[in-house]
Amino acid sequence: MVNNELLLTVSEMIKEHPESMEINREALRYVAERYPIGRIYSIVYIDVKMLPFDKEKSDTLLLDTDDYSPEGKFDVEMEFGKCGRIISSVYPTKEAGEFSEEQKSDIRVISQLFHFYYGQYKIMYSLTKATTNNHMTGLYNPKGYIMKCMEIAHKGDINQYDSCYFNIKGFGLANNVFGPVEGDNIIKRYAHDLDNFREEDEVVGHLGGDNFVALIKRSRIEDFIEYIMNYEGYGFKSDVKRPIKFSACMGVAPLNVKGTRVNDVISEASLAFGFARATKQEIVVLDEAMRERLLQRKKIEERFEKAIENGEFVPYFQPKVDIRTGKLVGAEALSRWIRDGKLVSPAEFIPVLEGNGNITVLDFYIFEETCKMLADWQEKGYETVPISVNFSRKHLDDDFLADRINQIISHYGIDRDKIVCEITETADYDEKELMTNFLDRMQIYNIKTSIDDFGTGYSSLGVLRDFAVNEIKIDRSFVNRAEFANRDRVIVGSIVDMAKSLELNVITEGVETDSQLAFLRELGCFYVQGFYFDKPLPMKEFEARLLSGGYKVIKDNENSGEVNA
Ligand code: C2E
Ligand code: MG
Ligand code: MG
Repeated sequence: MVNNELLLTVSEMIKEHPESMEINREALRYVAERYPIGRIYSIVYIDVKMLPFDKEKSDTLLLDTDDYSPEGKFDVEMEFGKCGRIISSVYPTKEAGEFSEEQKSDIRVISQLFHFYYGQYKIMYSLTKATTNNHMTGLYNPKGYIMKCMEIAHKGDINQYDSCYFNIKGFGLANNVFGPVEGDNIIKRYAHDLDNFREEDEVVGHLGGDNFVALIKRSRIEDFIEYIMNYEGYGFKSDVKRPIKFSACMGVAPLNVKGTRVNDVISEASLAFGFARATKQEIVVLDEAMRERLLQRKKIEERFEKAIENGEFVPYFQPKVDIRTGKLVGAEALSRWIRDGKLVSPAEFIPVLEGNGNITVLDFYIFEETCKMLADWQEKGYETVPISVNFSRKHLDDDFLADRINQIISHYGIDRDKIVCEITETADYDEKELMTNFLDRMQIYNIKTSIDDFGTGYSSLGVLRDFAVNEIKIDRSFVNRAEFANRDRVIVGSIVDMAKSLELNVITEGVETDSQLAFLRELGCFYVQGFYFDKPLPMKEFEARLLSGGYKVIKDNENSGEVNA
């Protein structure tokens, strides 16, 4: 019978720390002092279906002396349901040669105790690993990676680390050359090498495919970048080993995290990575200003769809005025985003939406809102004025742009002369044909068009020659210089003359001062839009302006700056 005290001692030793090989070995040495054991060799088998990433078995030499007899060995086995099993082979010392039946029986009991703690620990560990590690490479998956980063954060050290997010450059090609099976092997080796590069208190993770993350001490970041950008591995093709070199596209975010923000270790670096990729740079290190800008961008992209649904975008209307009479002769619809009660300017969101293509959604939204307003006013019997709506050049890829605009105008029953579609001048020759097609179709539908920011595209004469437009809108850069250069006078004067001869409407935007007004009057450009009269107004205020009819303008011989609505 096995000694109870021995069992108790062994149990006490290992149950607290079944993961510690040191303690396990010590416990078995303690047993070996009382039985003639020369060697114990244990193998844990784990169900491979559960752990495709792991070795199917892991073996451990728990007690190792040279003094053992292979012949007298016997096995002890324990099963853990469907998860796996553990088998230990126990060898007698040479001197003993074999175990007595009684000894075997005792050792069996002790081994089962050991199996219970150690085997259970190994299997639990592997199961946890399945949820925290990448199946193919065994590196941490996002969940495991964050958990590991949390541990470092709890120690309070996270600010000394840089967070990296990277994608192997050229892996797609290697995958084609070596085939998908060897491709997987190449990724596994890459992961293995990353893990070797890592120091004890650093973390690497595999997000899937050829995307990886790493948390590297700032003092080592340069070495790490150097390593990743000049990685040398190998692959087998037709049994021939061939060298491979990879660089990467990488975003690096120096962490400056307080407590809970550790959740952002991946997203901070992925922000830098996204920027690196978009700007075709190999590596981008995030600084505070870039971080703010990119976060803002991301927020806009993420919130856009909901914001449209919630009606957070609204058109404001900036009046156009005939400076001879002060009459309100039109307006331009300009988007505003009312986000959390604050007005966001188009300068912030238009470039972002142009970048991801959502500008086309916004433009049609603003266009429809404008049509609804006009339909409402028509119904109320107002004498309305033409309203311009901006259409980004991003629409030009849409062959049905003119048709869609036409449909919406028809749907709301708007008088065709009450809508103008503004599109900015293009300097891009490739777009010329698209632009011509669009403008021609608009003419067929009898919908007015206007070239915005005229004079900034370096092809303005071409515009006048080739495009069937109704209006040109002279860019404010021609009138906003402190002193009117003679060149500006000549250019604007000629544009106005040419446009008039071609029977085009001309309007100047960005007019703020008396002297600008006088300048334009002198050149015969009588339609203006600018802060001089009004900023873009919310719909209700614009409605009031429309009903009041216009502005009192200052004639040349008056010199007061008063403007009255
Ligand atoms: P834009 O179409 O050239 O519109 C004129 C811009 O000049 C407007 O800026 C307007 O507020 C501003 N502005 C008008 N008068 C003055 C002035 O006297 N002085 C100064 N300094 N500025 C003046 P906003 O509303 O910020 O819009 C900026 C640009 O964003 C617009 O330039 C347009 O290109 C774009 N945008 C605005 N809304 C939309 C939209 O719904 N769709 C598209 N595609 N673009 C839009
Ligand atoms: Mg415009
Ligand atoms: Mg403009």
